[in-house]
Amino acid sequence: MRKRSVATGIAAIAVLAGSLAACSSSGTSGTSVTDKVQSGKKLVVGIKFDQPGLGKKNPDGTFSGFDVDVAKYIAKQLGANDASITFKEAKSADRETFLEHGDVDFIVATYSITDARKQKVDFAGPYFVAHQDLLVKSDNTTITGPESLSGNKKLCSVKGSTSAQKVKDNYAKGVQLQEYGTYSDCVDALISGAVDAVTTDDTILAGYAAQHPGQLRVVGKGFSDENYGVGLKKGSTDLKAQIDTAIRKMESDGAWQASLEKNLGPAGYKIPSPPAITE
Ligand code: GLU
Repeated sequence: MRKRSVATGIAAIAVLAGSLAACSSSGTSGTSVTDKVQSGKKLVVGIKFDQPGLGKKNPDGTFSGFDVDVAKYIAKQLGANDASITFKEAKSADRETFLEHGDVDFIVATYSITDARKQKVDFAGPYFVAHQDLLVKSDNTTITGPESLSGNKKLCSVKGSTSAQKVKDNYAKGVQLQEYGTYSDCVDALISGAVDAVTTDDTILAGYAAQHPGQLRVVGKGFSDENYGVGLKKGSTDLKAQIDTAIRKMESDGAWQASLEKNLGPAGYKIPSPPAITE
C-alpha cells in the first residue's frame, strides 16, 4: 500500500515536471514559436490598430498597412499562413509588457529599437527608418519645428513612445506635453483645437494627414531616427535569426518596396532604402 503511494507520488511528480517543461517551451522563445506553427496553433502578433498605412483594423475586421504586411510575410516564412495569425492591438505603452508576459509571439508596431527597451525585450531588424516630426493644422504658420513649440504650445504624444520621451529629454522647456494612449486620440484633439500639434514618426503622421487633406499637414522637419524593429521576448535568439532572414528576403524579392508603395505612397511619403540589419 505504502509502496504504491510512493510510486503514485513519483508518477505525479513526473507528470508535473512534464507539464512544467511543456509550459516553458510554450512561451515565446525561438523554438516554441516554430513548434507553435508546426502544431497548427495560431501565432499572436502585436500591431497598431489605428495607424493608417502602418497598422490599421478596418471597419470590416480586416487589417492593413506596412507593419501588417511585414508581420504576414514573417509569419509565412515561419510556416504560418494568414489565417493562422491573430492580430492583437499593442498600444505604445503595452509593447514591452506584452512581450515580457508572453501575451504575443512578436510585435510589428512602429516599434523603435532603443537601448532602454533592449533591457527588457529583444529586437530583430531594423526593417525601416522613420523620423520624428510634427502634425499641425494646415493653416498653422507658427509651428515650424520642435524649437517653435516653446511659448506654451500644447503638444500631444503617446505614453510609452520614444516621441514623448524625446520631447521630455530635449524640448520640454515651454512646451505643454500631453500624453494620450493612442495617436488617433491625439489627432482628434488636434482637430478639435484641444492641442496645437501632435508629435511622432513622420510615417504615422503622413497617414493621418492623408485622411484629412487640406485640414492637417506634416511639418516635414524630421528630428530623430526611429529604427523599426520586430519586438521579441528577451532571449529569442533563434527566432530573431529567422525573422532577420525573413526581412532580408522581403527586401530582396520586392515585397518590401511594393508594400511601402501601396501603404505609404498614397500619403506622399518618400520611400527610403531599407536599413542595414543590425540586431
Ligand atoms: N516609433 C516610436 C516608438 O516606438 C513612436 C511610434 C509609436 O509609439 O509606436 O515609440
